[in-house]
Amino acid sequence: MTRPHVLLLGGTAEARALAAAIPESIDLTISLAGLTRAPRGMAGLVRTGGFGGPEALAEWLRANEVAAVVDATHPFAAMISRNVSWATQDADVSLLHLQRPPWQPDLGALWEHHFDIASALCALPETARPFLSTGKGSAPETLLRPDLPILLRAIEATEVPANVRLVRARPPFSEEQEIALMREHAITHLVTKNSGGVSGRTKLTAAQALGLTVVMIERPALPEGALIVTDVDAARAWLASTLALDTSSNPAP
Ligand code: NAP
Repeated sequence: MTRPHVLLLGGTAEARALAAAIPESIDLTISLAGLTRAPRGMAGLVRTGGFGGPEALAEWLRANEVAAVVDATHPFAAMISRNVSWATQDADVSLLHLQRPPWQPDLGALWEHHFDIASALCALPETARPFLSTGKGSAPETLLRPDLPILLRAIEATEVPANVRLVRARPPFSEEQEIALMREHAITHLVTKNSGGVSGRTKLTAAQALGLTVVMIERPALPEGALIVTDVDAARAWLASTLALDTSSNPAP
């Protein structure tokens, strides 16, 4: 019997965890965008770089006889999720989205909601001192508010306008570190993407401890009818049932 081929779209901790937990009876290809160095020791065959759009992705699925796809990309990676939705329909391949649950506000937290950073910045009052934890991709949007002292955190270096202070740092950050940073810059608003996950939550609890407003950028919606699970065990179970695998002899994840 031929082994089923599964494509796992990665770039997240969830994708790494699923790759490590995938049954041995599956041939696994993990796909990474190639924007950062591929993590070492990933289970499965790793390919990097874009496919060249939805049609090319559909062609890749057919040529590589893919039986099922798990999209475990970041909740804000909207383009690849749209592309794979189209491509799997075109190539008649089963698709599952694995996405960590979004954050919810704790009782008493002050949250405002926006769908993009541009509208969030434009809505800030003239007295705001915002902290954007959204990375270097947000640098162009800061041009919308030359009147505000903006703190932007990013892992990599990027050019920023004169009113923007760039702080380069790599997560995770403790709540104490977040509080210290927000205090040092007299922050009034935290502008952040609703990425979800445990480690990134410390900035939210820090903002709440300081009584700051959180301006939450909500996730782009997945295509209508998308099948979504929020944890690795559920993704593994979906693969087993979709591929009709006998998992009784596979090691537990
Ligand atoms: P995106 O805007 O949805 O995708 C842009 C293009 O990059 C896609 O059209 C596709 O190119 C290619 N691509 C993206 N993910 C890919 C993958 N796993 N394998 C092969 N090609 C991929 O994505 P993005 O926001 O730039 O994010 C890129 C990667 O970084 C994603 O894999 C995501 O999981 C990870 N990431 C993103 C964020 C975020 O905040 N956006 C945060 C952490 C990690 P083609 O059209 O040529 O196929």
